[in-house]
Amino acid sequence: MDCIFCKILENEIPSYKIYEDDDVLAFLDITQGTKGHTLIIPKKHVKNVYELDEDTAVKVFGVVPKIAKALKSTFNPIGLNIVNNNDKPLQSVFHFHIHLIPRYENDGMVLSTLNNYGKFNDDHFNSLVDLIKKEL
Ligand code: AMP
Ligand code: ZN
Repeated sequence: MDCIFCKILENEIPSYKIYEDDDVLAFLDITQGTKGHTLIIPKKHVKNVYELDEDTAVKVFGVVPKIAKALKSTFNPIGLNIVNNNDKPLQSVFHFHIHLIPRYENDGMVLSTLNNYGKFNDDHFNSLVDLIKKEL
């Protein structure tokens, strides 16, 4: 399979591994957006969150606190973002991965959510709830 993260798992290409168990691997992101930027992946190849089964999700997300705490103790960041991109154009590697991004003063990292607080009424919120619940 032509998947760069599967190749990392098979040691076909090098990586900077920081944690490994039977189901999960954590390694440094090659871009090091901030110091300690880490990726956590399941060993099972799934493209993204839409292909992720619950058992694999439990395993991969289960490792997140351990790595987050290690990054905090190691680098003493002011905070930490957890990011997961799904589908183009957000996603560039199509093997599910969770980014752990330690944050530092003036690190230049831009990560924001929009704030539309107060723009929508009760009916709008309830219609969204109804639509989403139909798909669960
Ligand atoms: P995304 O945009 O969420 O799909 O992010 C994919 C991430 O994989 C990017 O942050 C890349 O820097 C990272 N990446 C790509 N190739 C490698 C590699 N060989 N080793 C470590 N990280 C990689
Ligand atoms: Zn893969």
